[in-house]
Amino acid sequence: MAPAHAIRAVLRPHTTGARETIAARARDRGVLGWVRDGEQDTLQVHAEGDAAAVDALLAFLGEAGAVASEPVRVEGHEQFAIRGVSAGVFVVQEHAATAHHFDLRLEVGGVMRSWAVPKGPSLDPAVKRMAIEVGDHSLSHNTFEDRLGAGGVIVWDRGTYEQGGRVAWPEALDRGHAVFVLHGEKLAGGFALQRTRRGAKAQWLLIKRRDEHARPGSDIVAERPESVVSGRTLQQLLG
Ligand code: MN
Repeated sequence: MAPAHAIRAVLRPHTTGARETIAARARDRGVLGWVRDGEQDTLQVHAEGDAAAVDALLAFLGEAGAVASEPVRVEGHEQFAIRGVSAGVFVVQEHAATAHHFDLRLEVGGVMRSWAVPKGPSLDPAVKRMAIEVGDHSLSHNTFEDRLGAGGVIVWDRGTYEQGGRVAWPEALDRGHAVFVLHGEKLAGGFALQRTRRGAKAQWLLIKRRDEHARPGSDIVAERPESVVSGRTLQQLLG
């Protein structure tokens, strides 16, 4: 069934915990979309679905402190998400092995889902970096930085991340399109992972989304080669 109706609302909530309350109400009524922090203690809500359910949520938002709402285009959400909330940690480890690569790892369901990115991440939205899905790692591996076999590993970047997109995680990963926001020391802003080939070593593309953190023409891997833990480059670690 196609959602019939979509609105955006801005509210100045009377109470704390309003994000969670709004999300719970929306989910109860089968309304899809998201709630996130706006400017100056406001909340922004995108709500779509059955017109009666959306109107009922809008009435609730009015009581909760809505200051404005307007009809908008239906976007095809499949969840009601609280945006701007950390989903866990991420790490990028630079790994000198048989083939030099960077390992992007995102915390999902208590493990680090991992992709080997031969050329490393980019902040240039025009650059698509191949990412090969590899086995999950434990969270305890996130701080690993040392020589390893004939090669070695440095912690190239780390931080927290938010899950985004119209589909809830981990389903978004299962379906092969996952949108997320990184808060690292080098990497920041929205990224997308798009699967291009299924199979044992599934292939994905890692793409920077266009936002205020995008840096067209930049090469972050070359500009910032050092470990965020020790300040050493992989070269120095191996030297
Ligand atoms: Mn690796």
